Amino acid sequence: MSELAPWQQRPYHQAIAALAEGRLGHALLLMGPALMGKREVALRLSRRLLCATPGADGQACGACRGCRQFEAGTHADFKHVSFIPNDKGDKLRSEIVVDQMRALGHWFALTPQLGGAQVALVEPAHALNTAAANALLKTLEEPAPGRYLLLVTDQPGRLPATIRSRCQRLEFRLPPRDEAEAWLAAKGHGPQARQRALDAARGHPGLAADWLDGGHLALRGDVMKELGAVAEGRRAPVELAGAWLGDELAPLRLRFAAEAVLDGLSHRLAAAPAPGLTLPDDFQKLSAWFDAANRLRNQLSLPALRHDLALAGLLLEWRSMFKDTARTGARR
Ligand SMILES: [Zn+2]
Repeated sequence: MSELAPWQQRPYHQAIAALAEGRLGHALLLMGPALMGKREVALRLSRRLLCATPGADGQACGACRGCRQFEAGTHADFKHVSFIPNDKGDKLRSEIVVDQMRALGHWFALTPQLGGAQVALVEPAHALNTAAANALLKTLEEPAPGRYLLLVTDQPGRLPATIRSRCQRLEFRLPPRDEAEAWLAAKGHGPQARQRALDAARGHPGLAADWLDGGHLALRGDVMKELGAVAEGRRAPVELAGAWLGDELAPLRLRFAAEAVLDGLSHRLAAAPAPGLTLPDDFQKLSAWFDAANRLRNQLSLPALRHDLALAGLLLEWRSMFKDTARTGARR
């Protein structure tokens, strides 16, 4: 097994220590930003909980029958619950449904086949629909010894409070900058690339690595230039909307655009000159635009909408903010 990053090790060791002291909860909520390696920790913890002969270091032995079956993906006392195909069978559902949670409740009532623990991993836990969440609640209300439920989410706020309150939390937090840099360095990224990626990703190492590997930092630079061109009337919103939707990177472009606004606003609050785009002064309009950009980004996954019109509208709004600024002479 690969070595865990420091920000994965902390919640993992927190759980292992709790287990050793007999205070590990039956339900765990692994929460924190996406791309922090939560699933990997959940799997590692599952393997440990199912190991018959863990080492003195608290790790799974890797050699017992439980460990071998887990590695082979055939452990009968481990269940991984996620999206299942829809009724037509042509794609995955976007929710975890009640039948899955009922089945899980029945499964937890069985005798473990290897005589040890039973572990279920549910992800993404925020995708439980209301009926599924209610069914899960029943399971949570009747904890049985040796039964562990691991819920993984990057949006814990979308889980009902009744479920959250019954879980022990394992939080994944963004690491200190030097730790993130050392991790990126070990992945072979040079000092300049590391700095730029971590700045762009606001210190999130997983995101920085994702953007470095995908070559997306250049895209971020392009988005800044393109927004500048629209603001100055050198590029037509409708035409740029078409260009942005020309490949699968439109959501990332909108993310970068929204963050450019956020960066500008936070530098303004700190009374520091913002790098990159010079923004108009209207705080309310800027924050409304930030919200609209994020909303549209979420809607891009819905096929029914006219994304070209919505994006062109957003970029027109962008241009008009700068026009207003020029007219009132409020440019900084
Ligand atoms: Zn083992």
